[in-house]
Amino acid sequence: MKISETKCVGCGNCTYACPMGAIYVDPTTRKATVNSDECVECYACYNGLSKEHLPPRTVRFTRRMMSKLWLRFEPDPDICPTDALEPDPLSWPRVVRRAFSDPRVPHESTGVTGRGTEEVKTNEISNRIAVGMVGFTIEFGRPGVGVRFHQIQEMSMALAALGVKIQPKNPVTAMMSDVETGKIRDDILNEKVLSAILEITVPVERTEEIIRTVWAVEKRIDTIVVLGVGTRCDEDGEERVVAPILESLGYTLKRAKTNLGLGRPQIRELARENAEPANQAQESVAA
Ligand code: SF4
Ligand code: SF4
Repeated sequence: MKISETKCVGCGNCTYACPMGAIYVDPTTRKATVNSDECVECYACYNGLSKEHLPPRTVRFTRRMMSKLWLRFEPDPDICPTDALEPDPLSWPRVVRRAFSDPRVPHESTGVTGRGTEEVKTNEISNRIAVGMVGFTIEFGRPGVGVRFHQIQEMSMALAALGVKIQPKNPVTAMMSDVETGKIRDDILNEKVLSAILEITVPVERTEEIIRTVWAVEKRIDTIVVLGVGTRCDEDGEERVVAPILESLGYTLKRAKTNLGLGRPQIRELARENAEPANQAQESVAA
């Protein structure tokens, strides 16, 4: 994102719209500037502020005159009065920032917006987390903090070294040059994004090992890391395998969300059962 020097009147409204704190008003020039290294191209400033097309010279003159009278002329806080924000045409690798930071842009690798991964609530259809497995979502970054890909790589390589399965349908995986080792493409390692999610699955008995590895790596990388754990309930709707492991590691568990599956697998099973007599008949004909 860029700000036009000729148009900006330094009202400062855009500084409040930026989730990364990447815009500042230079006290000398009294114009806003974007710190391009910190800007994650989320477009919150551009999309979040209405644009007025007031003539910059008139606005500056009015503000100067009013300040002499100890009065202030400030535009409404949700407006860029002179339409001074100008999106840069993004090329590789910078375009990666926008893909991971603007929630309105779907990821090419998955077609999903936001962080670009399937929610766990679709697991009964996607079967990402099979019976006997645990799925981990390792979420990096937050507004005001962000994350660079070399920090994500530190985690992905540490986990890949343990032989875990990295979820293939995930935008972070799509950025890897070698999924087996968790290596991310060299040309994007310094790119910064608002947040991203790495997903892995392992057999339940490896739960503690994975959590301890995440704890160890998280201390080495300067961003926020949030760990999510997903697994399947048993027939009673209870979870008696992973929960005790988490509690032994000091987590206090509260049931926040249970996905009931919408009945689709059962419909498929019924469809299969209904189809079976016909299949059997065909098999006996073939024999
Ligand atoms: S909102 Fe517009 S005029 Fe005001 S500081 Fe930002 S870019 Fe400049
Ligand atoms: S695009 Fe996003 S990060 Fe960049 S300056 Fe605008 S609000 Fe801030």
